[in-house]
This record gives sequence, C-alpha cells and structure tokens, in this order.
Amino acid sequence: MQELKGIAAAAGIAIGRALKLKYEDWIILKQEVKDAEIPFQIQRFEDALIQTRKEILDLQKKITQDLGDDSAQIFEAHLLVLEDRMIIEEVITRLEKEKLCVSYLFSEVLKKYIDVFSKIDDDYIRERIADIRDVGKRLLRHLLGKEKRILFKDIKEPVVVVAHDISPSETAAMYKEKVLAFVTDTGGKTSHTAIMAKSLEIPAVVGLGQASIKINNDDLLIVDGLKGFVIIDPKKDVLDVYQKQRKEFNIVSQKYLNVKDLPSRTLDNFKVKIMANIEMPQEIPAVKLHGAEGIGLYRTEYFYMNREDLPTEEEHYQAYKFVAEQMRPYSVVIRTLDLGGDKFLSQLNIPEDMSRFLGWRAIRFCLARPDIFKVQLRAILRASVHGDLRIMYPMISGIEELRQANAILDECKEELRSSGSSFNHNLKVGAMIEIPSAAMTADILAEEVDFFSIGTNDLIQYTLAVDRANEKVAYLYEPAHPAVLRMVRNIIEAGHKRGILVGMCGEMASDPAMVLVILGLGLDHFSMPSLVAPQIKYIVRNVKMEEARLIAEHALNLSTAKEVESFSEGRLKEILK
Ligand code: PEP
Ligand code: MG
Repeated sequence: MQELKGIAAAAGIAIGRALKLKYEDWIILKQEVKDAEIPFQIQRFEDALIQTRKEILDLQKKITQDLGDDSAQIFEAHLLVLEDRMIIEEVITRLEKEKLCVSYLFSEVLKKYIDVFSKIDDDYIRERIADIRDVGKRLLRHLLGKEKRILFKDIKEPVVVVAHDISPSETAAMYKEKVLAFVTDTGGKTSHTAIMAKSLEIPAVVGLGQASIKINNDDLLIVDGLKGFVIIDPKKDVLDVYQKQRKEFNIVSQKYLNVKDLPSRTLDNFKVKIMANIEMPQEIPAVKLHGAEGIGLYRTEYFYMNREDLPTEEEHYQAYKFVAEQMRPYSVVIRTLDLGGDKFLSQLNIPEDMSRFLGWRAIRFCLARPDIFKVQLRAILRASVHGDLRIMYPMISGIEELRQANAILDECKEELRSSGSSFNHNLKVGAMIEIPSAAMTADILAEEVDFFSIGTNDLIQYTLAVDRANEKVAYLYEPAHPAVLRMVRNIIEAGHKRGILVGMCGEMASDPAMVLVILGLGLDHFSMPSLVAPQIKYIVRNVKMEEARLIAEHALNLSTAKEVESFSEGRLKEILK
C-alpha cells in the first residue's frame, strides 16, 4: 500500500482499477537495423515527412481561415524546419553509416540542433528552437505511428484514469463514460481541468507529482477527492474505512439535497441567490436536480473544444436557446469566449501567447477578432427572446475594453435590427471582475454595466501572482488572503453604491470556509458547480446575516490567510453543530 498526497480537485470517493493514459512524450529505442532494411527506413522517414507536411499545410489553411494570416505565420517557420536539407541529409547519412532505426536517429539529430541553438543568446534563435521541437514532435508521431490517447467511449469496465496531465477538453470527453475518477501529476485546485471535473461530478485529485509513474495499470486505487489523497493497493482495513466513507459522503450529500428546493434565505430572512456554473448544456438536468436558481456562469469555451472547426452562429444559437428555455424563469449569464490560459481550442494550434495567463486571450482576443466575437454575440442576442439571457465579458481590465465590447454588441444589435431579427432590447450586460485593475476601478466600471460577477479563480492568481494551474505554487494560492478579501469587499461596495447586483462565480463562492465571510460582505449571487449548491444553501439557511456580517468584519481585520481560514472554519462548525 502506498499513499500519495495531491490537491483535492473534485469531491467524491472512488475505488477502482487504474487505467493509465500515455504520456505525451515517447521513449525511443536505439534499435539496430540490417542493411536490407535501410531502404525501408528511408521510405518510413520520407512518408513521415510527407504526412507531417500535409498536416502542417492543413493546419495553416484552417488557422488562416479562422484566425487570419498573422496567426498562421508560425507554420511557415515549421515548414522551413521540415524542409531543412541539413537535417534530412544528416539523418540519412547517419542511417547508412550507423545502421540504427530512423526514429532514434531523427530524435538524436533534433537534439543536437536544439543543443547548439540553445547556446546562442538570441530571441529569434530561441523561437526557432520552439519550432524545431514542435515539428520534431509531429514528425516523430508519424514515424512511430503513435496512437492517439484512448477514446473514453471505448472503455468497457469502470476505471480510474491516471495521467501526467489531462486537458479540460479530455475531461469533458469523460462525461457519462465509464470513468469513476481521475488523478493527474499536474494541475491546481482552480485549473480548468479541476473545474470541469467538478461540474461533471467526476471525483478527481490533481497535482500529485509522480502518480503516473508510481501507479501501474490495473492497480487498485482509492481516490479521495475530498482530502486530495490517492491510495495504491490499499490494505483491507483501509479499503473498509473508505467504503464506509463513500457511503457517508452519499448520506451527507443527501442531507444537503433535502434543502435544494427551499429558499436560500438566512435565518433572519436575507435572500441571496445560489446559482450554477455550467460548461455545457448537457449539465442542465444536474443544475435542476441540485436546485440552483439560474446559471450564474455559462463558460462557453468548451463549445469550441473537441471539434475540428469553429461553431457556427446557428450552433451557438441552438445551444443558448436550449439553455434559456430549460432554465426559464431563471436567468442565465452567458460569458463570452474566454479562450486562453489553461483553456485552449483543441482543434486550433493557437499562438503561444494565447496559452499564457497574461497573454492575448479572452476579451483581448475577441476585441481583436470581432468576426469571431460577433458570431457569438449575435447568437446570444437572437436566443435572448427565449428566456432571461444575460451577457458577461471575461477578463475586463478597464473601462475602455468594456466600451469596446459594448460597441461591438451595438453593431450586432444594429445588424439584427436591419435584418428584422428579434432580440431582447433590454438584455443585461455585466463584467467579470477578475483582474486587480478592474477590482480597483470597480466604481468606474459599475457606472456602465448592469451587474458584476467576481471571478476569484483569476482574481486570486493575478493578485497573488500565482499560476492557478501550477501545483508547485499551489500553497500560495490563498482565497482567504487579506489582499483578496479587501478586493472582494471593494468590488461589492462599489457595485452596491451604484445600485447593481454583485455575484461571484469563482470557486471561492462554493468554498464552505469562505461562504460566511462573503455572505457577510453582502454578496448577492453565489454561482458554483451545481453539485455543491445544496451544501452552500444549507449553510446560508443556518446562519443569521447579522452573524455573517460580524464574521466578515472580524476576518477582514486578520493578517494572514491561515488566521482567516481557521477563524471562519471554526465559526462554521459552531453554527452547523
Ligand atoms: C474565475 O476566473 O473566477 C472564473 C469564474 O472564470 P474561469 O475560472 O473560467 O477563468
Ligand atoms: Mg476567469
């Protein structure tokens, strides 16, 4: 038996056999080849070159269509690497001389070039190294005939998936398949893979470091998504304990579920709204099952994933119409495309700077590409006649971005008006407050929006300079940090002063330890993965607003996150006992 400690990403306890997903890198064996096999090896190499070239040309065409020439530039460089005679000739000469398999020789030649270039201190050369790596990987994939990652729908028996890393789009593909839970070496509590797991109710532990090395296929695993443990080959008594805990978890969940249809009111009659975050329309039954009063955050990026092209206006429209109708009379906040960071378009080889949290992403990308942005905006507007839809922009850093986004929205309205399409002319528009500059200028922003939603996942990462998806700095990612609490207080006060409602859709809204504090600070809407909604409602229903205010006041006077956490957890225990 071995116990691994990671980060609890999605609640639940699962017990099952391991199924390992292959790591993205390959072990390339140094195999000798006979003289007679040399022409065959050369043929393999040439085939792989042709396939890789075709793959790059296809990608280039696609990106040019979808994102324009600039974004497709990178592929020119990739093609140049692929056509580099020096690399090709060196591989063939060595093959004839050393008589080793072509995949090994190609990887060796690549390594040599990378080593030589790495020693040159020049930005241009550094970029070329990235190109060589990228092209090299593609070519090796063709040479080795590397199979794609497992298709979850082909899994016959329930398993626990084990991987070095899992992307949000892969997590989405596990939905309703025979995956009991998953565990990964990388990732943080608010990485999008973790968020997706919560939304889809797949227990998960991330940031385990070396789980994918320590665990073998078919090992019996216990995944404790509540405390963040994974146990390999558990002893009988440990297994018994966890089987009991799994039952208890279900009983407690049922206790919370009993309040799901009751009002979310404090003991002294203050009403707040407990809403759901969704990633895809298929989650609506779960939202209803957990009694959420509307959708506070519909993350639309996932719409763009696990597919080969960009969604059309009609596809957007049908999805939004469905969600609006299903949720009536409740409101649904559709967040416009928030692509980038650790969420990415699986079908597009997007520019490197888009995958950085501080890069060209989310609203920045949408403002630069109104053609893509407008497809979504028009669809939301058209769907707005089917229910109470609202629009929310992500990653707003200041009033100018908000105005630019609204100007594009106005253009869409104008286009619809002139084509005679109907839409809700009073559609509410809000901004996510998830960048410190927005939090500090919330008073200015509040003048020009209908509502705020605090995105604490990003607000914490930007305020504390902690990458939310990096397990190595996860210890610094502190929702209860005094800087974060002050920002949250500032945003709520600024919103209320100007008479707009303030919600929170980051994971902090569903953190039991923080609920009393944010309730006391006056938050109006709490939006979260629907699974947790009953528990948060249960807490709200068992406290007086008067008490929550005192808790918030005290918490804001404490100096460290640890003090805030232990104080508010202590108060929560007392209140719920
Ligand atoms: C947030 O940043 O808190 C948020 C809700 O958005 P996302 O997690 O999708 O970045
Ligand atoms: Mg965010």
